[in-house]
Amino acid sequence: MGSIRDKCGVFGVYGVERASEYVYLGLHYLQHRGQESCGMVSFSKRKHYYHYGMGLVREVFSPSILSELKGDMAIGHCRYSTQGASNIENSQPVFGEIESGSIAISHNGEIFNSSQLRKELRKKGCIFKGDSDTEVVLHLLANSKKDTLKERIKDVFGRLKPSFSILIMSREGLYAIRDSRGIRPLVIGHLKSGYVAASETVALDIIGAEYIRDVEPGEAVFINTEGIQSFRFTEKKTPLRCIFEYIYFARPDSFLFGDNITVSEVRKEFGKSLFKKYPVEADVVIPVPDSSIYAALGFSSASGIPFDFGIVRSHYIGRTFIEPTQVLRDIKVKRKFNTNRSVVSGKRVVVVEDSIVRGTTLKKVVSMLKEAGAKEVHVRVSAPPYRYSCYLGIDTANTDSLIANGKSVDEVRDFIKADTLGYLDKETLLQNKYIKGEFCTYCFDGIRIIK
Ligand code: AMP
Repeated sequence: MGSIRDKCGVFGVYGVERASEYVYLGLHYLQHRGQESCGMVSFSKRKHYYHYGMGLVREVFSPSILSELKGDMAIGHCRYSTQGASNIENSQPVFGEIESGSIAISHNGEIFNSSQLRKELRKKGCIFKGDSDTEVVLHLLANSKKDTLKERIKDVFGRLKPSFSILIMSREGLYAIRDSRGIRPLVIGHLKSGYVAASETVALDIIGAEYIRDVEPGEAVFINTEGIQSFRFTEKKTPLRCIFEYIYFARPDSFLFGDNITVSEVRKEFGKSLFKKYPVEADVVIPVPDSSIYAALGFSSASGIPFDFGIVRSHYIGRTFIEPTQVLRDIKVKRKFNTNRSVVSGKRVVVVEDSIVRGTTLKKVVSMLKEAGAKEVHVRVSAPPYRYSCYLGIDTANTDSLIANGKSVDEVRDFIKADTLGYLDKETLLQNKYIKGEFCTYCFDGIRIIK
């Protein structure tokens, strides 16, 4: 059994009445980070309450369920998996009673050395319910010989290799913890008399919370009635952010990794550079909605080619990735997208896409555009060829089913049957004026920095 990786959204509220309602709203805005299952644990003075379910946040939590999730502190989680394994056992937050008290844990990322740690813990007699990394964290904390939770966190977190952005809630307060490289985002904010912690800033927007700052790589922030305290569990290392958060994963209206500009603007720059790298004469630029809209806008502004919506997306269908088989994925692309004939018929069309993974989407899109009368279809991708499956928490297809793995750009172009195909190269991608620091680009270059 392969490990269930946790590419997800996490959200926590401390010190605010009816905390669960805020967590519900926060998770709703983090839904793009995980759509398979979700869950929440809340704490009142003496008791804890929980609810989990398969499906979207709005399907899992009803007003009456939320009214049962009492207390002024709560954490939640929305989980992502391409496995199609509808496994409620792996839903989060993971809850447990350990010697220092009850705790709930929500995790986003993929702990590199979790299998090794799991083996060691099994030898010690630990029993695992599911196969998520988060249970490993729970058992490590439970096995620590230290007295308080804070000491236990200091004791064990240095052993965990990236990636993790983790929230831990106990009756004493809320911990927000980020791995030594800061691979996945994690922010804290202020809400009324209390605080929140979230995967992305958009989740603060929806509840009117005020952004305070990002949790630093290798830092644990502890929030309780006294406010915010901070401690480190490992030495400072060069941050190594995930480039794919910018390309595809994060919401366009989020401020990522402490930036003072939203992700949409970064994506527009990718689009502009893409035109400069691979110019083309055409009549219209269209995005594959929604994730490539901003890159397409950038391409259009740099080229002067008008932007339009040549593909209309049904909003009543989730991300096409989640379907477990190729046949279902193919049909789902068709159910998700329709061509807008008046926009593309008789035209030379540039389709901008943020990434080609298996090639399912673009193959279908190109053929639909041609059927709708497009004279030429030029594909431009605002990222390099996706050749290696992420090992740090973005769920994609296995490396051998990635269309660009072992194939040249021309071969990919032939597969999707486009007239031309151009990918943004890694060097240009990283020269984006809005992004700073070092990035993990493993999915493009196969260079593993976490070992
Ligand atoms: P594919 O059809 O397999 O080539 O996948 C490409 C499409 O999936 C693009 O429209 C991307 O925006 C989107 N995509 C890229 N990475 C992911 C991911 N990790 N999860 C879900 N969708 C993705």
